[in-house]
Amino acid sequence: MMKLRVMERWVGLQLLPPEGNLATMLVVNKLRKKLGISEEEMEELHMITGVICDKCGNPVENRGTEAKPEYYCLVCNDFVDTKVVPNQTIWNQAADIGKDIEFTKAERGIFIAAIGKADTDKAITPAQAAFWEQFIEAYPGADTVASEEVDK
Ligand SMILES: [Zn+2]
Repeated sequence: MMKLRVMERWVGLQLLPPEGNLATMLVVNKLRKKLGISEEEMEELHMITGVICDKCGNPVENRGTEAKPEYYCLVCNDFVDTKVVPNQTIWNQAADIGKDIEFTKAERGIFIAAIGKADTDKAITPAQAAFWEQFIEAYPGADTVASEEVDK
């Protein structure tokens, strides 16, 4: 079992192969569901994509129109200047305490293969290396499996 925070779950999601044989992809689909952030979690974490208040960094409400937005910050209790953060998601870090996720043998095999491939390609990112450290701590012996796979 691994206790994974939002960022770590995204690292896991990014490791999943975009395509493969049917058996692999059935496992990958299950992993997507396990690692993905549910709507309830998004609410708990106050997860938001888009526009935040310049002053306090909280998400703002549009009280104007789509064409002429006027952003109101509930925290500052005022209309405020905003930053648009494209493709960036923010959430309450304090509430992000991690979710316990258990991976089956087949699911672990997907990660082992993905890391093994990235390793061969010398394309491991620091976040992936950290994920892997957590992974082998949770599932000791996975590292020896990985090196065997790489040897093949
Ligand atoms: Zn504010």
